[in-house]
Amino acid sequence: MGFVMETLSVNKEGNLALGGVDLTEVAACFGTPAYVMDENYIRENCRVYINALNKFYDGNGLALYASKALSCKYIYRIMKEEGMGVDVVSGGELYTALAADFPAEKIYFHGNNKTDDELEFAIEKNVGRIVVDNLPELDRISAIAEKQGKNVKVLFRIKPGIDAHTHSFVQTGQIDSKFGVALETGEAEQIVKYASELKNVTPVGVHCHIGSQIFELAPFTLAAEKMMNFIGDLKDKYRIEISELNLGGGYGIKYTDEDDPIAYDKYIEAVSKVVRSVAEKRGVKLPFVIMEPGRSIVASAGLTLYTVGAVKEIPDIRTYISVDGGMGDNPRYILYQSKYQAASVTNPLGKDTKKVTIAGKCCESGDLLAEGAELPPMHAGDLLAVLATGAYNYSMASNYNRIPRPPVVMIKDGETRLAVKRESYEDLIINDL
Ligand SMILES: *Cc1c(COP(=O)(O)O)cnc(C)c1O
Repeated sequence: MGFVMETLSVNKEGNLALGGVDLTEVAACFGTPAYVMDENYIRENCRVYINALNKFYDGNGLALYASKALSCKYIYRIMKEEGMGVDVVSGGELYTALAADFPAEKIYFHGNNKTDDELEFAIEKNVGRIVVDNLPELDRISAIAEKQGKNVKVLFRIKPGIDAHTHSFVQTGQIDSKFGVALETGEAEQIVKYASELKNVTPVGVHCHIGSQIFELAPFTLAAEKMMNFIGDLKDKYRIEISELNLGGGYGIKYTDEDDPIAYDKYIEAVSKVVRSVAEKRGVKLPFVIMEPGRSIVASAGLTLYTVGAVKEIPDIRTYISVDGGMGDNPRYILYQSKYQAASVTNPLGKDTKKVTIAGKCCESGDLLAEGAELPPMHAGDLLAVLATGAYNYSMASNYNRIPRPPVVMIKDGETRLAVKRESYEDLIINDL
């Protein structure tokens, strides 16, 4: 069994190392729990998307990092340097991106229920695009734009009738989703037509996002085909020209040995073919194509380092290994029973492994990080790593039980640096009156 993270290795001391840096040293320097990330790997992932858009689509596109996967100033600086765009889904993410000097024109603002405050903020800061979710929101955007004397470029969140999750996808007429407007009912057509008649709004694109942690090409090519035909219909029926096609994110990553992801450039290759062929068939211009990967940029770049505390062997039932973190820093197990691979930091290749349950320190029986994790004997004080936690961990973390959030440590070219410092007890009470 290999590790699910490509840049994780065992060094000559026999310890786990990420990006060449010994994790026992990271723990000694920054304490535990800590999120530890390989910055070079994050950057390489960005380049895979950018290079594939160049190779298969003549660079007529943009890769956006879906920043809800991991949002902090440091990551927006990386994205800026790599030439990526970003998508944000709240005023808070937008604020963070701008605080890191991320260029506003390369920010796409999403969300199914944006508030007036958020829209005013986004329009005032001249975000590149707003992705409109529904008709009342479009009216609000138009009114705010008029008040500010601006014209806002918008995309529309479309439900293409494809719902994809992990190893399967379904094609349905109208999917049950709180996001966007449906194709099949004509709702999508109506909102674009309506927008085309507004003075302070310019409809430039259509967007869909069909799911997450997907391991197949077909749902993406099918979505591209449906969306391109929709662009064709808008041209034929209303002479509305749509120049941007945003196909969302959702590209799967390897959490455990059961996961078998497809190389990300393959998606772009397959989708590009479909976009070109439908464009030709329908006589529409080739759209600017946007991809929005989140998880696949950061998940496999990061792990969480913990220190083992209590070890409880319950005869004939299971062994609990409790660590100094849990659902506060990684709520994905309690939310979705997500599976993770774990490893001993000082005995990563240890024989004599046993299936154990890794538990957190929160006052909830469901506060687990993994069940059936294969680990060598672990003792109080040992360091444990839970792998591929770079996405949707720090960004989903809470202060439940008033546990301070861990730091985010970046490893780059053999050096470590803090991207986010550990919260202190003072931070916890900063808003308490
Ligand atoms: C969450 C999200 C993404 C990114 O999804 P991943 O599965 O992390 O790649 C992209 N676009 C939109 C609109 C999203 O909501």
